[in-house]
Amino acid sequence: MPLTIGRWRIDRYEKTLYLQRQPDPKCSKCRGHGSVEVTPADHDRLIEAVIEPCDCWDPFANIRIPIGRTVITERYPF
Ligand SMILES: [Zn+2]
Repeated sequence: MPLTIGRWRIDRYEKTLYLQRQPDPKCSKCRGHGSVEVTPADHDRLIEAVIEPCDCWDPFANIRIPIGRTVITERYPF
């Protein structure tokens, strides 16, 4: 279950914590939703409107913190 502190979302998966910065709730472009609609008027190469992540956050970036230690159960045979 994710935990949210301010703009940071903290997830735990197996032995790792993942910290991800969420969209800015005061952002003037996306108003905290994190996505903006880009129309062909903004980009001349676009054919139709697309939804892109806002510049106020990066949904593909996160901070990974390993927790706990790895226990080695196998040993080299002598
Ligand atoms: Zn934004």
